[in-house]
Amino acid sequence: MVYKITLIPGDGIGPEVTEAAKVCLKSLGVPIEWEICLAGESALEDRGSLLPEDTLESIKRNKVALKGPITTPVGRGFRSINVELRKKLDLFCCLRPAKDIGVINTVHKNVDIVICRENTEDLYAGVEFDLGDKFIKDIQKAAESSGAKGVIREDTAVSIKAISRFRSERIIRFAFEYALANNRKKVTCVHKANILKYTDGLFLKVFNAVAQDYQGKVDFDDFIIDNLSMQLVLRPERFDVLVLPNLYGDIISDLCAGLVGGLGVAAGANIGENIAVFEPVHGSAPKYAGKNKVNPTATILSAALMLRYLKETEAAEKLEKAVQDVIKEGISVTYDLLPADKRDKAASTMQMAQAIAAKIKNY
Ligand code: NAD
Repeated sequence: MVYKITLIPGDGIGPEVTEAAKVCLKSLGVPIEWEICLAGESALEDRGSLLPEDTLESIKRNKVALKGPITTPVGRGFRSINVELRKKLDLFCCLRPAKDIGVINTVHKNVDIVICRENTEDLYAGVEFDLGDKFIKDIQKAAESSGAKGVIREDTAVSIKAISRFRSERIIRFAFEYALANNRKKVTCVHKANILKYTDGLFLKVFNAVAQDYQGKVDFDDFIIDNLSMQLVLRPERFDVLVLPNLYGDIISDLCAGLVGGLGVAAGANIGENIAVFEPVHGSAPKYAGKNKVNPTATILSAALMLRYLKETEAAEKLEKAVQDVIKEGISVTYDLLPADKRDKAASTMQMAQAIAAKIKNY
């Protein structure tokens, strides 16, 4: 069987890092036919649209996409193409693994956390009222009728934190199913239900209900977000799968990326009911575009996540092992993985990809 997969090279360093991932995938021998599609600046120049309809159609048809980072032109089009993709394809889970792969300058070893961040609601739902908006008075009245007199001043801007039972259950079930499918031991719910009794309270309530369906199969517990932040810095190795509402998920994902080596190695995916888009966490780093210099690891590990999603587990494991081996050897690695005094010996993006591909051939 040949997998037909949409490939969006993206902008800036996107074409270089996606090409690097292709080289590694090719060496694994997994048969893939790429459907190359445009999005971002390149699409705007070529097609007059940041997110052309045929790119969306291709993802919907193929159900799986590998995507390079995209530059969002300031002041043109929508806020972010990634947000638009998430909305249009209902990609409700932002999956971000944070695994120690031997990057030298990390403080903690043995970190192996998977973050399942709710991607569609919470404070990022986009329901906001600016200073002076006519609805502020209504919100003020609603607050007063709920007993919070004087809390919302007239000179207030408001963002709504919306947490629904349906979307909470969807992401929480996803986290438990992910844990089961990937032999993970525990799911931790992250919240601030002690203060946000209704919104985070609902998230926690749904979590505790869903967890009952996994009794005896996956352990579960919950942490208040502030305590979790401290524990992650002190003892990150104690955590396994985390499930969080959107805002906490956004922040904790980056914290965890920092724990294992930062942007150059942080892989991710946006996953919906039956569509998934895999992409590095980093942006298009325009100043490095075309220099064949940046770290391809984040995109290569995103491709490994894609292989796991396709149930090509053996290939995914090989790819992850090859990345880890090359990083641990510390020879064919890009500048960001070397100490400052050794950076003149750094490998290029493609040299690192080729070193990973060569390892795979030797397994
Ligand atoms: P960025 O991630 O592109 O780059 C910030 C810095 O991080 C770079 O200057 C570089 O020092 C480092 N870096 C990033 N990727 C690296 C890699 N692979 N290897 C080594 N070092 C790396 O962030 P930015 O400069 O804030 O954003 C640039 C553009 O990317 C913006 O237009 C932004 O909107 C876009 N962006 C896109 C995505 C996406 O498409 N998923 C994500 C974030 C930002």
